[in-house]
Order: sequence, then C-alpha cells, then structure tokens
Amino acid sequence: MRDTDLFQVALGVKPPWVVQKSEFDVTAKRLDIYLDFARGSRFVCPQCGTADCPAYDSEEKTWRHLNFFQHEAHLHARVPRVTCKSCGIKQVSVPWARPDSGFTLLFEALVMAMVQAMPVAVVARMIDEWDTRLWRIIHHYVERARDRADHSDVTSVAFDETASRRGHNYVSLFVDLVCRRVLFVAEGKDAGTVEAFAKELAAHGGNPKAIAEVCIDMSPAFISGIAQSLPNAQITCDKFHLVKLINEAVDAVRRSEQKSHAELKNSRYLWLKNPRNLSERQRTQLSNLSGSNLKTGRAYRIRLAFQELYAQPASNAALFLKKWYWWATHSRLPPMIEAARMVKRHWNGILRWFHSNIANGIMEAINSLVQAAKAKARGYRSLRNLKAIIYLIAGKLELALPT
Ligand SMILES: [Zn+2]
Repeated sequence: MRDTDLFQVALGVKPPWVVQKSEFDVTAKRLDIYLDFARGSRFVCPQCGTADCPAYDSEEKTWRHLNFFQHEAHLHARVPRVTCKSCGIKQVSVPWARPDSGFTLLFEALVMAMVQAMPVAVVARMIDEWDTRLWRIIHHYVERARDRADHSDVTSVAFDETASRRGHNYVSLFVDLVCRRVLFVAEGKDAGTVEAFAKELAAHGGNPKAIAEVCIDMSPAFISGIAQSLPNAQITCDKFHLVKLINEAVDAVRRSEQKSHAELKNSRYLWLKNPRNLSERQRTQLSNLSGSNLKTGRAYRIRLAFQELYAQPASNAALFLKKWYWWATHSRLPPMIEAARMVKRHWNGILRWFHSNIANGIMEAINSLVQAAKAKARGYRSLRNLKAIIYLIAGKLELALPT
C-alpha cells in the first residue's frame, strides 16, 4: 500500500478529495499531508445544498490534526469556492474541519476531552499550541451546546454567588436542583442576575412562571430579584447558610467573653463543630467548658436547638421555631438576639423547608467543581473563560463532539 493510500483510508477522505502526497520530516518531528481534488470536480453549495457546483477559485489552508505517533501532523488543501446559481460564490465546507478553524474536527474533539480533565494552560503546553487558540475551540463547542440546552422542565432551582478571582468579581450560579446541573452563570450578585436568569430560561424553552421552588441564602438582592422575575417561586432559606450565621453569633459571644475567661481562647472550633464531629478529647473539653455556666455555652445551646428544628415533624415546626425565637431573644446575648431577629425576618422561608425539602447542599458539590474550574481557567482574566469552563464541567452539556 502506498503511503498516500494509507493516509487516504486512515483519514477517511472521500472523493472528490484525495491524498496527493505526504512529507515526513524527522528532525522537525512533523508530518504534512497534502489533500487535493481532481480537476473539474463538482461540490455542494455550503449555503443551499445544491450539488454539482463548479469550482471558481481556491485558497490554500492548513489544519492541525491528531499527532502521528510523537510527530505533529498537519493537513493541507486548497479549498475551492464554488459558483452557485442561487447563492453566488461561496467557499465549500471540507468534511474534516469546521469553517474558519485551523484544527481538524478530530483534533478539536481531543482538545475538548483534555480540557475537561486538566487546566487549559497545561493542555496548551502538552500539545504545543497557543492557549488562545484552545479557548476559541472551547467557546465554540460550549456555546453551541448551550444553544441546544433544554430548560423546559426546570421547576426547582438554587442560586448562590461565588467569588471569581481573589474576591474581586462575583459570579452567581443558577442550578437545577432536579438534574443537578448549572443552568446559568451570571456576572455579579445583584437582583439583575435573577432577571437575566429568567430571560435565559425562557430562551431555552423554560418558563420563569413555572419556577415553583427556589433555595437561596438570605441575600436581599436575590429576594427582590425573585419577586420581580420568578413570580410564582416560593423561597426556601438555605439551612446551611442559616446555621452558619447562627454559628457566627455564637463565636461573637465567645470572642467578647474570652476577655474575662482565658479558658475560651482557641476554643472556636469546639463550638462550631457538631459534637459528633469532635474527637474524644475535644468532647471532654467542650463538656467541661459548656458545663461551667459561660455565656458561650448558652449561645451554643441556642445554636444546637436551632438545628433541632430540622428534625421536627412539619406539624410542630412553626411552634418549635416560635419557642426557639422566644428563648434566643430572651438570652441577653446581643449577637444571639441579632441572629434571632434575622430568623424572624426570614420566617416563612425557613419554614418553607418543611414543604420543599430543598437545600443548597448540591451547591457545595458544584462549588468544588467550580473551584477546580477556576484552577483550570487560571491565568485568564476573562470571566468569559471562567464561565465557559463552569458550563463545561458542571453544566451537563451535550457537546456533540465529532468522532
Ligand atoms: Zn447555493
């Protein structure tokens, strides 16, 4: 078999395209394969699909292809423009590459597989390409897949913000709680992001009015955005955020009390963790401290009681929360009273959990993916790159890669 025949079969090139010649340069670690078409060949019009259009002129092009063993492989061809009776002069599409891409489809598929597993900068080094060229591939496939994404059955969402780079910028993530996928990444964390999400939903066959349940932290911006843009949504206050705020109140009590009680120094961790997550020694330490009639001990018991809310039967939840509120507001511990007032402001959202049973726990899983995505987008100031990587990793997109 001649090398041109071998490459013809291996590349899957079909008439009118033929492999004309190949050049292999061991020193340059490079294989160049030249494709051509026979004189007088006819092509399909790329715009209207009319067959048998004659070539008008042609342009030399090069595409990087999958490596030939350890050697870079490049395809070359003169790509014809055809004269179509209806459309005029058009450049034909070649079967091995997208228009205006300097890579073959198979090379792009390889890049897309690699960037899902490692940082783009690393992939760029490994395959010796400019990362800017790889980002163009990523944006192309992610955008096409996002165009096709179907949001018609979305009814239950969670949103949360995450700092994009060293806390300078924020992105808000909108997550489908049923399919556990990122639906939308918005820049910023204001009410406008909810409006942008509602528009995005509608653009993908979804209905903002069909969103029945939303789980968020206590962000006033999100709350007002929901009122404006997701009119039928019931808000559930995320229990992890609530417990975190109450924990912060406990720590505020401890910090002010440690001035007069040195034994409280360095005990922050003991009060923040749940008892079952402590070691034997820490548990003993905690029970000694909490038994000694400290304000911190009282604040801590108020926090534990708040968590017990979530173990109550739904029928008892409102009464339980009412009693808790009375206890916390009568604790004479200003940070706990402040926390209780915050609970009062979000009363319905807290009790909604007993109906919706949703929480932002999934956000933790998605956030760890996003942290990985940030590492993958490292070195790129562009939020566009970060968003593309988040969609790629956590969006459950159908990339429709060439095979
Ligand atoms: Zn045409």
